[in-house]
Amino acid sequence: MGLECCSIFSYGLLVIIVMCFVNKFKEKKRKDAVKQASCERQFKVCVIGAGFSGIGTGHVLNDMGIDYEIFEKSGDIGGTWYDNVYPGVGCDVQSHLYSFSQFLNPTWSESFSEGPEILEYIQKLGEPIRPKITFNTAVVQAVWNENLSKWAVTLSSGRVLQADVIITGTGLLHKPSTPKFSGAELFEGTAFHTNQWRKDVSLSGKRVGIIGTGASAVQAVPRIADMGVESLTVFQRTPTWCAPRFNFQFRGAVKFLFKYIPGLQMLYRWYLFWTYEIRFFIMFIMPSKEIPIVGWLHEKLQNYVHKLLKRHVRKVVKDPAVAEKLTPSYPMGCKRVTPSDSYLQSFNKENVHLVTDSIKEFTNKGIKTMDEKFHDLDVIVYATGFDLLGSVNAFEVSGVDGKTLTEDHSDEPRAYYGVSHHLCPNYFMLGGPGIVLGHNSVLFIGECQMTYLRRGIEELLLRGARSVCLKESAMDSYQEWSRNKRKNKVFDDLKFCTSWYRNSRGVNWTFWPTNLISFWWHTSTFDSENYNFA
Ligand SMILES: Cc1cc2nc3c(=O)[nH]c(=O)nc-3n(C[C@H](O)[C@H](O)[C@H](O)COP(=O)(O)OP(=O)(O)OC[C@H]3O[C@@H](n4cnc5c(N)ncnc54)[C@H](O)[C@@H]3O)c2cc1C
Repeated sequence: MGLECCSIFSYGLLVIIVMCFVNKFKEKKRKDAVKQASCERQFKVCVIGAGFSGIGTGHVLNDMGIDYEIFEKSGDIGGTWYDNVYPGVGCDVQSHLYSFSQFLNPTWSESFSEGPEILEYIQKLGEPIRPKITFNTAVVQAVWNENLSKWAVTLSSGRVLQADVIITGTGLLHKPSTPKFSGAELFEGTAFHTNQWRKDVSLSGKRVGIIGTGASAVQAVPRIADMGVESLTVFQRTPTWCAPRFNFQFRGAVKFLFKYIPGLQMLYRWYLFWTYEIRFFIMFIMPSKEIPIVGWLHEKLQNYVHKLLKRHVRKVVKDPAVAEKLTPSYPMGCKRVTPSDSYLQSFNKENVHLVTDSIKEFTNKGIKTMDEKFHDLDVIVYATGFDLLGSVNAFEVSGVDGKTLTEDHSDEPRAYYGVSHHLCPNYFMLGGPGIVLGHNSVLFIGECQMTYLRRGIEELLLRGARSVCLKESAMDSYQEWSRNKRKNKVFDDLKFCTSWYRNSRGVNWTFWPTNLISFWWHTSTFDSENYNFA
């Protein structure tokens, strides 16, 4: 019996090994065929943006042996991490997960790395791609030419190039949003957005005001408070859920193990991935009354987590009145969760003040709030987030029949899995509408999208087709599916809160509506049946 089991096991193992070899062989043959087809056609891809998306795409296209050029409006590689240099900037997803699975970094110095270390990582990753990038050059327009089945791409330099395929990696958070306060022009001090941090302005000895309490403020407030400022006044409209991060440094020995034990980093990455996913199931899905015991348990668990975090605020913030003001009354996940080990603690400092009355207007000396109180300030920092609609419409896109993406997007942009649009043949987006996450790494989504678009381009080349375009019916059913999936999630219910996830009508067009396994599943193969090839 034992011998029989052993031989069945050996036979099974042999079959798996043979299958792996066969698959590898098939993949190699496919790759060679794609390379050859792209060479014969002088196939060219235009990539826009040199952040994580653009750099990751560069690696994919290198691997496919396809010719491409990247255009970046900024002066260097990095995207978000090149632009945002405010004090304390960093990721709020652990670095071993907020990185590419193909390019793991065993030497992250801490669990939540800061901006400069992330920038170093992405710039190192971008080195082999650098010769393909033209910096300080924005794409201003792309027009689809039906006859040629090519895109005419106009650059800010005036050059127009023809591309078979466009891949956009322009991000959803690259245009800062600065609210227009009455009297803003009267202010005699210095005012700037966190995204346009003025390193030349010393904050030492200054009276600083910061508007907003979202992710950037949560990172910047503790650092600004420690920069020798005379005072730091935080203008809060709504408190944020600020869970402890439990950030820690990686010791040399751990980095050594990550580097030399095969699979250890991947294992750690998977552990992180699942802990973030579990949070989604616990906190982002509303307990269902239709599943009696499970729904009841889910509700109890959610209430317990809320209670725990409320207790955390009361424990950390010494002044009970301030603690009360810093405690959210909406469910976690309705707005972006902003973990920090030092934000709440900042309000115990004598020079940090919390103002919860709304801003009425700016004056020449500072800010006047609705309670008619004046707050004299030397520097005002806008931590007011990003213009998502402006970011998604990064340049003018004129697709099938001259219809523009901006018009179709209106105030509710859409894209099939954040990648394809029925008006844009041979056009793939990375980080397009509908893929923002509140609980996990956006780079996971990016990698899935890269696999998907790679398969799409391969299919185009192998079929000898000139264009591949999403069917309108597929877009409509995806939109419907996506709306339905959002329905039982805390980030979709207007009664809880408003957030930057939504447009002015309260519609949440930015969010991926469900868990990430589902995203991986849907994008792991290219669903040719939902596309027209011509
Ligand atoms: C402060 C901050 C912290 C964040 N923290 C996290 C986190 O912890 N976890 C997480 O998952 N996500 C986080 N994000 C989201 C983050 O933006 C993404 O994770 C990721 O960096 C997106 O990469 P990207 O390449 O798609 O876009 P980006 O990094 O935004 O890069 C887009 C690039 O395109 C360029 N570009 C735009 N328009 C044009 C044009 N017309 N022509 C040429 N170039 C153009 C821009 O200059 C930019 O360099 C954070 C964002 C910010 C702002």
